[in-house]
Amino acid sequence: MKLTKINRSGKQSLYGTFLTMTLVPLLLFGLVTTIYSSYTLRKSMTEAVHSDLKNVADVMLVTFDAVYPGDFNVMVSEEETILYKGETMLSGDYDLIDAMKANTNAEISVFFYDNRLLTTITNAAGDRHINTGASDTIMKSVYMTKEAKFFDNVSIGGTRYFAYYKPIIASDGSTCVGMIGVARKAETLRSIINNGTYKFLAIVIIALLITGGFIVAYTSKIVLVLKRIMDFMKELADGFFYKTLDPIVMTRTDELGELGKAMVKVQVALRRQIERDPLTGLFNRRSGEKRLDELQRSGKPYALAIGDIDFFKKFNDNFGHECGDEVLKTVARVLSDSMAKQGFVIRWGGEEFLIAFADHTAVMAGVKAGEILQKIRDTKVEYNGQAHNVTMTFGVAEGYADRPISEQINAADAKLYEGKENGRNRVVV
Ligand code: GH3
Ligand code: MG
Ligand code: MG
Repeated sequence: MKLTKINRSGKQSLYGTFLTMTLVPLLLFGLVTTIYSSYTLRKSMTEAVHSDLKNVADVMLVTFDAVYPGDFNVMVSEEETILYKGETMLSGDYDLIDAMKANTNAEISVFFYDNRLLTTITNAAGDRHINTGASDTIMKSVYMTKEAKFFDNVSIGGTRYFAYYKPIIASDGSTCVGMIGVARKAETLRSIINNGTYKFLAIVIIALLITGGFIVAYTSKIVLVLKRIMDFMKELADGFFYKTLDPIVMTRTDELGELGKAMVKVQVALRRQIERDPLTGLFNRRSGEKRLDELQRSGKPYALAIGDIDFFKKFNDNFGHECGDEVLKTVARVLSDSMAKQGFVIRWGGEEFLIAFADHTAVMAGVKAGEILQKIRDTKVEYNGQAHNVTMTFGVAEGYADRPISEQINAADAKLYEGKENGRNRVVV
């Protein structure tokens, strides 16, 4: 049996696999329990019929003995065989067996040897099945052995019966003179067993449908979650790093939720790789430009500042490139700490930083840049046991929603140049 389903495009689908793996065993389980329950039902019903027929046969024989004392016997003439019990002629006297049938709903027959001389069984015309014989099998296993026996498939007059045969032993115990046969139509019982089986089958089918429904619903949910994770990963692979992962994944507390969260971490790490400058952790120029565009398009007031470290080259030249890197990192940290929740900082060039002030006019940004400059002046860069002072020059320009951003960057750059020209270590607005 193939445990994976192939969908129309020829790909294996997890959904099909899940369903096949759960529903097929469930179906088999349902089938097996149905067959087994039908078998046990049949067995227990048959046993019940057996003990019921045995009781009827016992009572019948005791009743005969009580009402008509003496042994069963026959008088055989050329025309007929007449059955006696003690002194009483039983042939033609159906009162006792008919009363028993009325009480127990079981068919009663009295055999002398193998000849059915009294019976409640009638044919379609209503005639009693008398003077018919018991089969060889019955004779061998009851008459010969003198032991009562139950049969679950006896044909009498073309009808199937469950039947119990009890030997009639002569009062001196020497011989078996005949049998009491008690029978019930197999058909009635079969329909009871079938009804029971159908009911059980119906319950199994309903249980299967409900369980199947749950499995289908659960599987669909799992597959949907996996599909969302897959879509998210495809987006990542295609270079879209800003998609959010569906909350149906993120809110899960199981392994799939963990997988989703791990994928989001991958996304954040990739985004960082792509957006951030590895040395300072600030936005790099490419991602910074994108953010500037967004800020300008938002239509909100803003201002820009470009800051350049003064005489930066001398750190490199005098103390080594690593010292220069240390200065860059320190300056970057001061800038981004100062700008938390007020805007963002971009590493614009080698030792040039672009600061975007959201909701600031140029004047406000100028004040803020002055504060930042003071912090830079106050910060010592430790390198190789030496503390270095750093200063910066800032050029500040107002942002306008209706002008190209490059124009405003150029304006800030011009102010920076002005600051450099006029002695550095200052803010020019
Ligand atoms: P000014 O006051 O006029 O700005 O002078 P400056 O020395 O700061 O300016 P200049 O543009 O002459 O020097 C910038 C130097 O920064 C040149 C370059 O080698 C160095 N630089 C650029 N990126 C890095 C970097 O990532 N690490 C280090 N250590 N140096 C860098
Ligand atoms: Mg410089
Ligand atoms: Mg420079």
